[in-house]
Amino acid sequence: MASDRHYDVIIIGTGAGGGTLAYALAPSGKRILLLERGDYVPREKDNWSTKAVNLEGKYNTKEVWRAADGQELHPHTNYWVGGNTKFYGAALFRLRQEDFGEIKHWGGISPAWPISYEVLEPYYTQAEQLYHVHGRRREDPTDPPASAPYSHPPVSHEPRIQQLSDDFARLGLKPFHVPLGVLLDEQDPRKSRCIRCDTCDGHPCLVSAKSDAQILCVDPALEHPNVTLLTRAYVSRLETNPSGREVTKVIVEREGTTEAYSADIVVTSCGAINSAALLLRSANDKHPRGLANGSDVVGRHYMGHVNSVLMALSKCPNPTVFQKTLAVNDFYFGSKEWEFPMGHISFVGKLDGQTLRAGAPAIAPGWTLELMAKHSLDFWLTSEDLPDPNNRVTVDREGNIVLTYQPNNEEGHTRLIEALKGLMKQQTRCAVHGHECHEGLFARSLYLGQRIPLAGVAHQNGTIRFGWDPQTSALDVNCRAHEVDNLYVVDASFFPSSGAVNPALTIMANALRVGDHLLERLR
Ligand SMILES: Cc1cc2nc3c(=O)[nH]c(=O)nc-3n(C[C@H](O)[C@H](O)[C@H](O)COP(=O)(O)OP(=O)(O)OC[C@H]3O[C@@H](n4cnc5c(N)ncnc54)[C@H](O)[C@@H]3O)c2cc1C
Ligand code: SF4
Repeated sequence: MASDRHYDVIIIGTGAGGGTLAYALAPSGKRILLLERGDYVPREKDNWSTKAVNLEGKYNTKEVWRAADGQELHPHTNYWVGGNTKFYGAALFRLRQEDFGEIKHWGGISPAWPISYEVLEPYYTQAEQLYHVHGRRREDPTDPPASAPYSHPPVSHEPRIQQLSDDFARLGLKPFHVPLGVLLDEQDPRKSRCIRCDTCDGHPCLVSAKSDAQILCVDPALEHPNVTLLTRAYVSRLETNPSGREVTKVIVEREGTTEAYSADIVVTSCGAINSAALLLRSANDKHPRGLANGSDVVGRHYMGHVNSVLMALSKCPNPTVFQKTLAVNDFYFGSKEWEFPMGHISFVGKLDGQTLRAGAPAIAPGWTLELMAKHSLDFWLTSEDLPDPNNRVTVDREGNIVLTYQPNNEEGHTRLIEALKGLMKQQTRCAVHGHECHEGLFARSLYLGQRIPLAGVAHQNGTIRFGWDPQTSALDVNCRAHEVDNLYVVDASFFPSSGAVNPALTIMANALRVGDHLLERLR
């Protein structure tokens, strides 16, 4: 193989894991190759079109997966430089300290991580600084201890959300500001890159003001002459030496040809589903069940959270533009009435008629989709699903992805929905419509439960778990494959359990942790 195709490190995938790792390794001067199957998201007005993004799925992959029953799945996932962080809502949470230990749920056990919160804490702080997280510590009592305050103040609530926050507080809850990665300066709006618009969650940012992995990690990494990025470079397979202990070739399909690259260290970060598929596709004589899969865990324990979007309609309109600022974790570990974890309540970006059309919800009598969207508070509820070995990624004979998933641990989620319904009924009456509105707000409230379907793989994780025991995990505590000396995984695959907050900050923090390990190894 020509030496110009040999690198110190190859990183496959440029999302939360791979992009952040590239940023961490770039200053080392080591030759680093980033391989990304997608291209740059084009900057165009459609970035902010809910019709193009949500209704037409303009930026979604057109790849077709299958469910276990053979049904086609059109996954809601995005293949671009920066990965899914180009589209995420940038709610950047730490897992709770307790999430690193074993937790008993209604549906079973959420297993402990092989590292403690304290090991990851310094990297959470670094990741928050790198991704410009805006927030306020300890407003939320479940917030884990942190070694530094947030570097940026919390993103303020708009009046309707502030009112709801006040209502929740009056009811004895501890509502808090969502930690958000946006390049927003509310003190100096004229100079602020972020304009606080209504097309953030789910959309790429037209003005490059979202804290995504391309803007904050990949682009700065590429300023180092030792870092190279190949886009539209799909990694189809990893090959090993005869002993099976080392990856010797990274096979890439690019512009209609097949190329091979090699590196002293190969890191896959294709997202939890694609990384598992890549290892499974890379089976060989020494790894008959898939690369690094002597334990048979690769592809198993797929988790994606139990998520719902709930719209609370009221007679009063909800004029909020940037809605995703408020959250409640009072039910995260349970409640007085229910001893098991229930989950996390927050918001999605403000829904509009176009977006609702894509989900085709039941229309409340007398309402149009546009009107519903103007009058709704749009909640996002997350509960933990548990790692079930039968919930898994496999590949068919052609190497295509098959996703098998049976929801579990749903009772806590159902109770979380009930808790929210109860809270919404206790809001203060509104000043505009007086008693009439107060009645209407609740009497005419309609809650449309929309469990996110299987194709909603936004929070995918857990398919190549890390751990101490090679019998039950594929990766060691440094996220290196137990069975392959130069293979690492830094996307969401490594999670042994998923908690109930959004996963991206944990992926980023872990990538920085693995980055430190690799810098040591490469010295
Ligand atoms: C609409 C939406 C909203 C979200 N909101 C939030 C939020 O508010 N907060 C939060 O924490 N999380 C959120 N998430 C989830 C978050 O984006 C993901 O958890 C995170 O991006 C996962 O990081 P990753 O590194 O595992 O994978 P990704 O970010 O998906 O990166 C994987 C990369 O690998 C590339 N790739 C895949 N296969 C190959 C291959 N074979 N060869 C080469 N390249 C490959 C992909 O193109 C991609 O760039 C959201 C996700 C979505 C879709
Ligand atoms: S301008 Fe701000 S709110 Fe709008 S998409 Fe960009 S980061 Fe999000």
